[in-house]
Amino acid sequence: SSEKNKSATKKKVAVVGGGLVGSLNACFFAKRGFEVVVFESREDIRCAKTVKGRSINLALSHRGRQALKHVGMEDKIVSKGIPMHARMIHKVNGKRSPIPYGKKGQYILSVGRANLNKELLTAAEAYPSTQLNFNHRLLDWSPETGTMTFLGPDGAETEIQADFIVGCDGAFSATRKQFLRRSRFNYSQTYIPHGYVELTMPPRNGDFAMEPNFLHIWPRNTFMMIALPNLDKTFTCTLFMPFEEFEKITTGDELMNFFQKYFPDSIPLLGVDALKRDFFRLPAQAMVSVKCSPYHLNDKCVLMGDAAHAVVPFYGQGMNAGFEDCLVWDEILNQFNEDFSAALPEYTRVRVPDDHAIADLAMYNYVEMRAHVNSKYFLFRKYLDNALHFIMPRTVIPLYTMVTFTRTRYHEAVIHWQWQNKVITQCLLLLGTVSTLGATYLLIRYIPKKPSITVEQLWSKVLTLKWFQK
Ligand code: FAD
Repeated sequence: SSEKNKSATKKKVAVVGGGLVGSLNACFFAKRGFEVVVFESREDIRCAKTVKGRSINLALSHRGRQALKHVGMEDKIVSKGIPMHARMIHKVNGKRSPIPYGKKGQYILSVGRANLNKELLTAAEAYPSTQLNFNHRLLDWSPETGTMTFLGPDGAETEIQADFIVGCDGAFSATRKQFLRRSRFNYSQTYIPHGYVELTMPPRNGDFAMEPNFLHIWPRNTFMMIALPNLDKTFTCTLFMPFEEFEKITTGDELMNFFQKYFPDSIPLLGVDALKRDFFRLPAQAMVSVKCSPYHLNDKCVLMGDAAHAVVPFYGQGMNAGFEDCLVWDEILNQFNEDFSAALPEYTRVRVPDDHAIADLAMYNYVEMRAHVNSKYFLFRKYLDNALHFIMPRTVIPLYTMVTFTRTRYHEAVIHWQWQNKVITQCLLLLGTVSTLGATYLLIRYIPKKPSITVEQLWSKVLTLKWFQK
């Protein structure tokens, strides 16, 4: 009978935003037996001719997969993904070298955003308690009553009431506006100086133009290009560059000179005409990092996904973190037996430090991907960390592995990384000191007491070395 009581008091949940996180969240709430209504401002992308939106494809990794698994969607999505086992670094001279992501068998998946979103909407709709509404843009809502005002498909405003509102309406969330009016709500947003454009690399002789199972990177210090494979054997290349550099390229010739200088190996693969067409089709898109806290407002509303934490895309974790939000919330609901008034503050307490940590890590990787991968010390440390991980798999875990292939809480991954960095650096210093001292000792110990060469002779020999001559 307690089960009966529970279902009789089940809340009506409104999910605002039917993007990646909103549609997955609808599945999570519906699976628990809530009545779910999704409101999405765009038309139904399953019927739309062209799908506007951000990045054509994304890297899906462990956290996202675990969340999909929870609603029985993992296999379906993974079967349409392309494994990427390593980064493939492209130098200016055309030389390529792979840097594995983790151990053998560990990989991230390139998945198409549109298909992923469509599959999740269809999965949400399959629950009898779920209803999807497209062409409904949230204008405002009342924290007191839970009444939401939407701009409907006919251009008229409609009011809809719900017991609980889940704001999954992305980086520029309208749900969040009510939070901003509250006292003690912390909020910050930062635009990075870089923008991005997407270019399509067509198939070559019916096959992928480059090795498909890699995330290709052309790191050029202050800017970079990356490419992820698609199922139709194309690659989506994304050029990340400061806006002021984009502004310098205004003609086809300027574009070709730029590509000839920095990405010459990509020109024949992209094709000159297609490159010129794709590059100038849309202006470069901006990227924003948003942090806020708390994530809940009374027991009426919670923010998840980009609405709570938009991160720059350089760790490939934005969607993964958003998917994990749904899973963490579900775990907390279990823990508190669906008592929202207790679960919501706990969700904020648990999730804020983790989402803030991934926002910081993504900023850090913004530099690592375009600049550090060119450094010899970085590569040495990557190999050393991987080797140490092989010998002591529980003690030394590369940061990328913790973030991408485990569900270690993001903020704990950062703490562990800082600790192991300190230890490894100190060990390297110690090793350096010990070997210098050892070498000095051996020199002193084994140099003959009466050298057969005098100091003057040694000095004059040194001076004859090429290095000392002009
Ligand atoms: P969104 O995808 O933005 O969806 C929000 C939805 O809400 C949209 O459908 C929108 O139409 C709707 N909406 C907005 N306002 C309203 C309103 N007022 N009323 C009703 N509906 C509304 N993440 C990864 O994990 N891996 C990657 O490799 C990766 N690569 C990326 C590359 C780029 C270039 C970019 C920009 C991002 C990348 N991300 C990646 C991040 C990822 O795209 C986002 O984290 C993810 O899309 C967040 O999903 P969301 O549902 O929270 O928000």
